[in-house]
Amino acid sequence: MIVHLKENISSDKAQELAKENAAILLQYQGKQVLVNSSSIKELSISLQDYAEEFFVFPNDMQLSSKEYLPQKREVQIGKQIIGGKQKNTLMMAGPCSVESEEQIRETAALLKELDINVLRAGSFKPRTSPYSFQGMGLEGLKLLDKMREEFGFSIITEVRDSTHIDDVIAFADIVQVGAKSMYDHGILRKCGKINKPVLLKRGFGTTLQEFVQAAEFILSGGNADVILCERGIRTFETKTRFSLDLSGVAYLKEFTNLPIVLDPSHAMGYAYGVPDLARACVAMGVEGVLIEVHPNPKQAKSDASQQLNHKEFKSLYSDLHKVAQSIGHKII
Ligand code: PEP
Ligand code: MN
Repeated sequence: MIVHLKENISSDKAQELAKENAAILLQYQGKQVLVNSSSIKELSISLQDYAEEFFVFPNDMQLSSKEYLPQKREVQIGKQIIGGKQKNTLMMAGPCSVESEEQIRETAALLKELDINVLRAGSFKPRTSPYSFQGMGLEGLKLLDKMREEFGFSIITEVRDSTHIDDVIAFADIVQVGAKSMYDHGILRKCGKINKPVLLKRGFGTTLQEFVQAAEFILSGGNADVILCERGIRTFETKTRFSLDLSGVAYLKEFTNLPIVLDPSHAMGYAYGVPDLARACVAMGVEGVLIEVHPNPKQAKSDASQQLNHKEFKSLYSDLHKVAQSIGHKII
């Protein structure tokens, strides 16, 4: 249940009510809001004099649900706005990892040429082997900062674990929580306390309900700016890296109020399939797409097989404008 408390209730009283009702207390649009389990369907006696309005739900997708906020949430990224009434699809592109100043600058210059505003690159990489390249760490964040200064981008970069979460939060404009960290409650709770948009990737073995409930950890911490990212789930299929769950995206669009970003690169795993998949992603009418592009994919230190080279990316980007236009969206 979500309860909006009446105005003028002191924060001490609100905290007392939260405790009595096993609820989380958060501020949303100047209101004090209590959220507890969706199994509670009736207002408790202790809340009767203090509730202005309350909402009940069939399951724990509450703050994220259209039943609570029918309009898609708006999230501001630099000067760009996604969600709300806008029909914008935000392009976020860049290499899998920052590898060197030369490498990141080359791709940054390409994005600038194409008028793309969001540069993506990981610096703390969640690899499946301890022997693979693990990312440049803090040094990489500094290079991303440099690109932001020089080119005016917003930067999206991922947090892998708690050891560097404060650095990532300090440097990023959008904090990416990767598929392998989707269940890390330390990261989720911390992201609930920050003032920056968080892009939460779906774990590759999680149901939509579990995915959205992970987003609820961030929302219920008080951060309203959560973006869901579908990046492929693991199925019996082995010819592609993952299976992009576009049916799931249709579900998320229908039932949640959170902006949605699609990542065809990690889903496909092979550059040859990324353009087709990316066109399908944009045709879904989502708020953003995340695409990996590298100046020399063969030499990439992570995800080499799936990154587009600059020429491939440029040609895809021009197609994506046409696809977006055909459904009344605009690539920003
Ligand atoms: C990435 O974006 O480079 C990445 C590691 O993604 P995921 O968490 O989806 O595997
Ligand atoms: Mn990658």
